[in-house]
Amino acid sequence: MAQTDGPEAEPGAPARTATAPALPATSYGALLDVIRSRPGLTRGQLLAATGMSRTTLFARLEVLFRAGYVYQDGSAPAGSGDERRPGRRSELLRWDTRDKVALVLDLGQTRARVCMTSVGGQVLRVREVSADIHINPGEYLATIFDIADVLVRAGTDETLVGVAVGIPAPINPLTGGLGATTSMMAPWERYPLLDVLRERWHVPAVIENDARAFALGEASVLGPGRAVLAIKYATGIGAGIVDAGHVLEGADGAAGDIGHVRISDDGPLCTCGRHGCLASWASGQALIRDLQGTGVRNLWDIVDRVSAGDPLVCDAVDEAAARLSRVLSTVVAAANPDALVLGGVLGRMPRVVSTVEEHIREDVAERARHRLRVSAAHLGADGGVIGLSRKLVDLVYAPTAIDRAILGEHESAAGQA
Ligand SMILES: [Zn+2]
Repeated sequence: MAQTDGPEAEPGAPARTATAPALPATSYGALLDVIRSRPGLTRGQLLAATGMSRTTLFARLEVLFRAGYVYQDGSAPAGSGDERRPGRRSELLRWDTRDKVALVLDLGQTRARVCMTSVGGQVLRVREVSADIHINPGEYLATIFDIADVLVRAGTDETLVGVAVGIPAPINPLTGGLGATTSMMAPWERYPLLDVLRERWHVPAVIENDARAFALGEASVLGPGRAVLAIKYATGIGAGIVDAGHVLEGADGAAGDIGHVRISDDGPLCTCGRHGCLASWASGQALIRDLQGTGVRNLWDIVDRVSAGDPLVCDAVDEAAARLSRVLSTVVAAANPDALVLGGVLGRMPRVVSTVEEHIREDVAERARHRLRVSAAHLGADGGVIGLSRKLVDLVYAPTAIDRAILGEHESAAGQA
């Protein structure tokens, strides 16, 4: 990260952009934002960085200390220019992420990862379960929530800051809730998932499309300023595009829903009710259907057979990856990313990565893929979880959210007095 005037940002620190609007200097949240972005500042350096008066800054800091957002850690090295008096050392200020955790539920069509992460995005505890998301949402979530409760209770002296859920469905950009989806996911469309999450754990909640969450996680390891096209290729097919830290959501919250692009006039019946969608030809579900009678029952069977070099399964996977590549070529040409990351149980297979790379090289003009690197997911199966954790932390620690939390506490304290 290009930071010339302070230490490296910690994991989970807000992405800095040159165009970020200036927040009012009186904002608690804006002050915390500076401390998050530049960990280890002294009070003197913070005075210079914010331009606040000494009295205002110290009063604001006191409130942030009491609310548990900031702590003092160690002291500035000699000669840092912040010693007020000879022999006196200055305390360093840090964003307090100690013992603060997030609950993250990364829900796929047939498998779910239930995790506790640190606020810095480190996976602390994880359980992976097989669960079919197409059943009734209440019934499905009862199972997932029970597992989540066990993981939450397994922590000692932890504070849960929020809950984030990734789901293979569009997200309504106006409400942040679930958007219109395929017929198989229809029961979820009117399901008040955000309200259910808030009522269950009494903390802020956020939901995101699973492929876009995966894209956010992968973009976080690739570094700021990158254009990343990330594909989740498992039971279904979804894409996420992150450009300079911003994930494309689209007018209907359905950006990246490439699985239901029709690639032929006829062809197999798709879960969306139409014929010839990419997913109906090339998804994991389609492969399992086509390999019926060969002993392939699930995605892991496909991975095992490909590893063993089974020619029938290898051919089927090559053909599916070729069809996927046709659609990806158009997306690559439209977005001109510098990273194409393949994730999901099928997408991470080296055979799929090399097939996609080969087809993109053949199909896309050199000028639209000059910098492009095609790779398997860098975070393994954790990309979605890390993306969701980061999205949640950005929501919980947004300057406006911090101001609301602090001023709300003040008001309720005043009301009780
Ligand atoms: Zn479809």
